[in-house]
Amino acid sequence: MIRLASPMFGPDEEQAIREVLASGHLVQGRRVREFEERVAERTGSAHAVAMSSGTAALHASLLALGLGPGDVVVLPAFSFIATANVVELCGARPVFVDIDPGTFTMDPDLLDRCLAGVGSEDRERLRAVVPVHAFGRLADMDAIRRIAARFGASVVEDAACALGAASAGRSAGTWGRVGCFSLHPRKVITTGEGGVAVTDDPEIARSLRTLRNHGQDPMGEAFDSVSIGLNYRMTEIQGALGITQLGRLQGILRQRREAAGRYDEALRGSVLTVPPPAPAGAATHQSYVVLLPTDVADARAALIEGLGSQGIEATIGTWHMPLTTYFRTRYGYRPGDFPVTDDVARRALSLPLHERVTPAEQRFVADTLLARIDELMSGRRLVAHADRPRIGERP
Ligand SMILES: *Cc1c(COP(=O)(O)O)cnc(C)c1O
Repeated sequence: MIRLASPMFGPDEEQAIREVLASGHLVQGRRVREFEERVAERTGSAHAVAMSSGTAALHASLLALGLGPGDVVVLPAFSFIATANVVELCGARPVFVDIDPGTFTMDPDLLDRCLAGVGSEDRERLRAVVPVHAFGRLADMDAIRRIAARFGASVVEDAACALGAASAGRSAGTWGRVGCFSLHPRKVITTGEGGVAVTDDPEIARSLRTLRNHGQDPMGEAFDSVSIGLNYRMTEIQGALGITQLGRLQGILRQRREAAGRYDEALRGSVLTVPPPAPAGAATHQSYVVLLPTDVADARAALIEGLGSQGIEATIGTWHMPLTTYFRTRYGYRPGDFPVTDDVARRALSLPLHERVTPAEQRFVADTLLARIDELMSGRRLVAHADRPRIGERP
């Protein structure tokens, strides 16, 4: 199987884990601290706080900003569902904004219009804007930051897929008040599960450390809690993995960029829409996502299954969050509310991309995919004149 993602571990990771086990010290130790120092250094942040997942980092960040019931948080419609869930978990209300069809990230003009359009009552409760660096490509942070500031909202970056991306010399995760990275196995580097938040604000860093450890202030009294809190701590095993994985980051980013370039070359000019080139360094290529031709989008599930039967693991791009059962039911969103996300979420297809995918495998992926789409499209042309159901339509 040509896998979508394939984390790269070697003897260094095995040795690092063995050392943790031998030390008998599995949580709250020096490896997590060292990992945090290295992330802070790599991103150019004053503080990094390691967490048990990217979702935990996002949730704790919103809590650290004091978000609560009645507050409003603005985020893009197209992202992994965790981005919206954490807002809801704080008791706050998510307001979705449509995306730019080229970069799949929040459209700043629509953000501006959305913020200008919220009623005065909501405007007062508007607390945060959460841009997402979709598939590791930086959102238009200059514009988003400016607009958020104009409306008095804090920026919290969902940089889950973007560790290592930068624009104008500024790392993903450091454009707002807090930035959150994920270390899940489908991200650029991994600790199994894991996440880390970065910030320049010492008070937010302190809150994050307090929240992740049952409300115990790291600078406060022992056996006292100053707020309610969670157990969102990272283990020493994850910390040790994170240190070794960070050492590989630069090489991994280069290999991913090269692999993405090979897909670009093989697929550009075909019936597929390939992602437009990102400015140098501004994307991690966490996923390689193409858009299917509109008239085969309905057959995407069958296409994914067909590719699977030929040894190619493919999947959807990411989620249309407002149209999930929960958010649709709770807030009454409907198709048409976010036309770009409606279109992109139907057509997006994520192809295998990782450090070890070979040029020959990529060629096979491209050829197989194009052949299957060609079949679907010519099949469609044949039946278009007949009174038969169209391919991909339910009988
Ligand atoms: C992966 C991901 C998350 C969640 O990270 P976990 O570490 O899996 O909890 C959140 N947002 C986005 C955009 C992601 O891709």
